[in-house]
Amino acid sequence: MTKVYNFSAGPAVLPAPVIEQVQAELPSYHGSGMSILEMSHRSSLYEDLAAAAEEDLRQLMAIPDDYDVLFLQGGGTLQFTMAPLNLARHYHRLGLVDSGHWADRAKEEADLLPGIQADVVASSKGDHYTSLPKDYHLNGNYDYIHLTLNNTIEGTMYRQLPQLPGQVLVGDMSSNILAQRYDVKDFGMIYAGAQKNIGPAGLTVVIVKHDLLDEQQNLPAMLDYVKQAKKHSALNTPPVFAIYVAGLVFKWVKEQGGVDALQKRNEDKAGLLYDYLDNSKLFRATAKPADRSITNVPFVTGDENLDQVFVQDATAAGLLNVKGHRSVGGMRASLYNAMPKAGVEALVKFMKQFEMEH
Ligand code: PMP
Repeated sequence: MTKVYNFSAGPAVLPAPVIEQVQAELPSYHGSGMSILEMSHRSSLYEDLAAAAEEDLRQLMAIPDDYDVLFLQGGGTLQFTMAPLNLARHYHRLGLVDSGHWADRAKEEADLLPGIQADVVASSKGDHYTSLPKDYHLNGNYDYIHLTLNNTIEGTMYRQLPQLPGQVLVGDMSSNILAQRYDVKDFGMIYAGAQKNIGPAGLTVVIVKHDLLDEQQNLPAMLDYVKQAKKHSALNTPPVFAIYVAGLVFKWVKEQGGVDALQKRNEDKAGLLYDYLDNSKLFRATAKPADRSITNVPFVTGDENLDQVFVQDATAAGLLNVKGHRSVGGMRASLYNAMPKAGVEALVKFMKQFEMEH
């Protein structure tokens, strides 16, 4: 098999040593004679691995003890519903920072909940989401302000959080969790679908400050953070395999030196690509420099037909999944934690060649 690099936005590249370990221990998990794929979530083997995964994530992100860590299902998208259900309890109102497609989806889902109001408090729509919103208009009381820390499609990312004193922040970290350092204490809640920086699809990580929750609220069990926390996320059958792989990825992140070390590596990788893009006569990055993401880099040639040719030729050269999201077109290279620098170097080399030929 020829060497390929997978630039997919998610499900995305995982660390090669993790895939190799999964392969090696797939037939028999820890000498049990059972595959992890066959193992009961009520077994001590599972309980131990889930507890270790939680502990490693707590260490990696410095999650304080008064935050619950939940391993749920339903993707980032279900959190667009669960966050308002669990947290918008006093004012029944959240403020939403409209920074792109996924923020907009969060609003659409919140708007479907009876009695809950989701107000846009800042937007960069007028800028076609090529930058982060800058002007905030808060008006009255909000249970929380929803922020998309990294806009996977548009390629913008918060390096610093907006100054919103007294507000509870809820952060969608789906596409840069463990890739960029944030202080968990700045948030009331954080959530992330696993399938970019953490592991296979099917697992969603939720980190929520316990005292924001209401023990008496009594939501339908699967939607209730309190009930999920009480049962250590095993209220029903959890995604055992996805949690197992996530646990291996957390160990891998620790071996790499943790989030700060990976952030530096990500900045370096993204820097290589942005430097080339900013000097290219053919390609250009679409996001404004100050707000550029280190995990998702959208770019275009300015000619849709040429973009298509580029995607085809890159694929043939083993540079896979560089097509931009269907809503914006062009190209996008996702450079998550597990993308090696050699992958970015191969992409830049290929782009230089393409530029010379066109
Ligand atoms: N939020 C962000 C920032 C995303 O990038 C995505 C998926 N790409 C989602 C939410 C939705 O995630 P899921 O497919 O896990 O529901």
